[in-house]
Amino acid sequence: MGMTADRNGSSSAQPGGTIPLRSVVWDRFWNPCLSGLPTWLANHPLVQAAWEGVDPHHCWDMHVHLGGIGDGESGIRIAPAMQSLWHPWPRLQMVFYKNGAGVSTAPPGQVDARYVERLLALVNELPDGFKLLLLAMDQAHDHHGSPLPERTACHIPNGYVRQLAQSFPQRLAWAASIHPYRADACAALEEARAEGAVAIKWLPPAMGIDPADARCLPFYRTLARLDLPLLTHAGAEQALHGTRQPRWGNPLRLRLALESGVRVIVAHCASLGKDEDLDHGGQPVTSFQLFARLLDHPDYHGRLYGDLSAITQRNRRLELLRTLLERTDWHDRLLNGSDYPLPGIPLLIDPASLARAGLLDDDCVPLLRALRGYHPLLFDFVLKRHLRFGSYRWPARIFETRSFFDRSAAA
Ligand SMILES: [Zn+2]
Repeated sequence: MGMTADRNGSSSAQPGGTIPLRSVVWDRFWNPCLSGLPTWLANHPLVQAAWEGVDPHHCWDMHVHLGGIGDGESGIRIAPAMQSLWHPWPRLQMVFYKNGAGVSTAPPGQVDARYVERLLALVNELPDGFKLLLLAMDQAHDHHGSPLPERTACHIPNGYVRQLAQSFPQRLAWAASIHPYRADACAALEEARAEGAVAIKWLPPAMGIDPADARCLPFYRTLARLDLPLLTHAGAEQALHGTRQPRWGNPLRLRLALESGVRVIVAHCASLGKDEDLDHGGQPVTSFQLFARLLDHPDYHGRLYGDLSAITQRNRRLELLRTLLERTDWHDRLLNGSDYPLPGIPLLIDPASLARAGLLDDDCVPLLRALRGYHPLLFDFVLKRHLRFGSYRWPARIFETRSFFDRSAAA
């Protein structure tokens, strides 16, 4: 698959196992987005060690964004603010997302296509069997279930994600996104299931969903009956702006779904921000504490899960990473996902500071930097396989998430 690199810098890595220091400073801000993972890097002892004990046929990266700007046939719609000079912050975010996905230099009209091209090239460089779970994103809706296109930060249509996944079933699976207030929500769920969706994705504050609203009940009952897990964000969300109802990201608001029998995955383990402790008068505590409270509740065993996407980003507290490594009793309920394209953005994840904190061996740092330039998905995988706190590490099964989604593989 012919990928066009952002910058043709094959000198970034040399055969022979040593990792050069070319443009070390620049590469901390900008991903060179190189193509063609060199053999010496793929076979590097630290990369090989990361695969040890992991069966790639059971490895699903369960949090991968299918992005774009809607310049092709994808039907993707991005809020004008993300691209407007009048909104410098969202616009800047967009510049870095594009860099992470390797589409910065794509000519107008080809961004969506390049995004897919690079993603496929990357997954094809991973061992056979390794799959990506691609996420759709429904529009924001109002109280009555009517779409709010002008308040939707980003709409990734189910049909687009489904088509791509169905075209490459050896490598891709898909999660639909359906707003529960839609009049056709339950029918859409049945349809998505019939078309092979293996999960449903929500971002409640951006989409305008209150997960504790009784209007979600029919949706939850259908999810439980179809055995479709709900992947939903909790805690603060910085990646997307939308209806701005931060309270709806409170992990405690997921109890209704859990009590309805739904398997719920909290994206990023609610690792960012604070929420009201609704059990104790509403005082602010970290969202992670509230997630942990639910995770420790015996009633929610086998129901509540957390994903490890974004957890290594520098805006997360290291304390939290240590907890997730050390709480071995949680490990059966953690699922690995990368949050691609975010691991491709050098500013977001800094292996050197993880090493300084004692969570990573020093010799991993130059390797990971080189790897990120070629392969953000492998970068994320190798980084997390090498993370440690004292003698605690994440076991292989956290990366072997397939059976959670593909119930035929669960047996
Ligand atoms: Zn995400």
